[in-house]
Amino acid sequence: MQKTAVAAAKCPAYDKLKINNALNKLINSLGGIEKFVQPGQVVAVKPNLVAKKKPAEAATTHPLVVEAVVRLVQQAGGKPFIVDSPGGPSSRGVLRSVYRATGMTEVAEKTGCDLNFDTSETVLNHPRGKAVKQLTLLKVLTKADVIIALPKLKTHCMTRYTGAVKLMYGAVPGLKKAEYHFNMQKLREFSQLLIDINTLLPASLNIMDAVVGMEGDGPTAGSPREAGLLLASTNPYALDYICSDLIGIKPDSLVFIQLAKEQGLCPPPAEIELLADPLPELNPPFKLPSHKNVDFNLPGFLKRFISRLQPRPVFSPELCMGCGECHRCCPAGAITMVNGQPQLTLDSCIRCFCCQELCPHKAVQIHQHWLGKRLLR
Ligand code: SF4
Ligand code: SF4
Repeated sequence: MQKTAVAAAKCPAYDKLKINNALNKLINSLGGIEKFVQPGQVVAVKPNLVAKKKPAEAATTHPLVVEAVVRLVQQAGGKPFIVDSPGGPSSRGVLRSVYRATGMTEVAEKTGCDLNFDTSETVLNHPRGKAVKQLTLLKVLTKADVIIALPKLKTHCMTRYTGAVKLMYGAVPGLKKAEYHFNMQKLREFSQLLIDINTLLPASLNIMDAVVGMEGDGPTAGSPREAGLLLASTNPYALDYICSDLIGIKPDSLVFIQLAKEQGLCPPPAEIELLADPLPELNPPFKLPSHKNVDFNLPGFLKRFISRLQPRPVFSPELCMGCGECHRCCPAGAITMVNGQPQLTLDSCIRCFCCQELCPHKAVQIHQHWLGKRLLR
């Protein structure tokens, strides 16, 4: 049986030459860019642009990685454009400021490639979907001939880990993401939704920016952490399997990996072939998010008790600037603004942690009762 290839290339810094060398090594080991892009094809280059964050914060795909991929696509005769749908409400103004902060505007200026400002949605049927039979997606992504996904290696407060599979949640337009979060509150349901998105809208190639990733309270409030690698695969599950293992998370503990294995999408480790450079040992491993969310099927009174023990968002009055972004993005309507400060209705909170992900001032911390930390491990 043919193994699934995951290629890794050492890349110790965000240096143009080093990135280009590492990228060429990866792509050549997977068969060359011509295998993925034909002349004249429209290529959606989809980085992780979760929020308006600077490259040094390590929450978004580094612009030098995006630039190198865009140039490779252009060399192959493809027509690349950069596209993502950041969390929260989407508009031309929001996209412009996210593109500017994350370095994408500069990439577009240097390479001549387009930035997407089209926020139109389309609804596609997904007969093979398990969580949903229809998906609302960004129309431009569904129209592209090829998708090249550029995830960033990070820990994540809700899913523990975010990489290639979770990246495609950015194919869901703006506030529709909040609606899906609200309708799929359990980690298992949400993880299946991520798989459904990937099976309906698969990227042809996934290239992981793991030069500097994020550890701790990712995907936006953690700390930068060097891993010194670029990795690539045509299979996002195999890529995430290798990358989560690399940073010290047991891949089989991740719900989306469990589901992908059950559905024959993620090969067992013996069927994953590592190409190019050997993987380093990251010592110490990445710090994990400071808490763990657990799904339970319990009667109401027990649910309320357990709810008190689950992690919850806490707003720091020192750091909060009263911008209201958390209130606007909360899918459960659990946050109200009182005298310019957010207040949480705990019983309404579904623990999606979008408020933490999208707070521009790192003013949302996730706290958990000590008993919860001990009981819900
Ligand atoms: S917690 Fe963050 S997002 Fe919410 S109002 Fe304060 S600064 Fe804005
Ligand atoms: S308060 Fe935060 S964690 Fe709770 S539902 Fe709203 S966005 Fe999600």
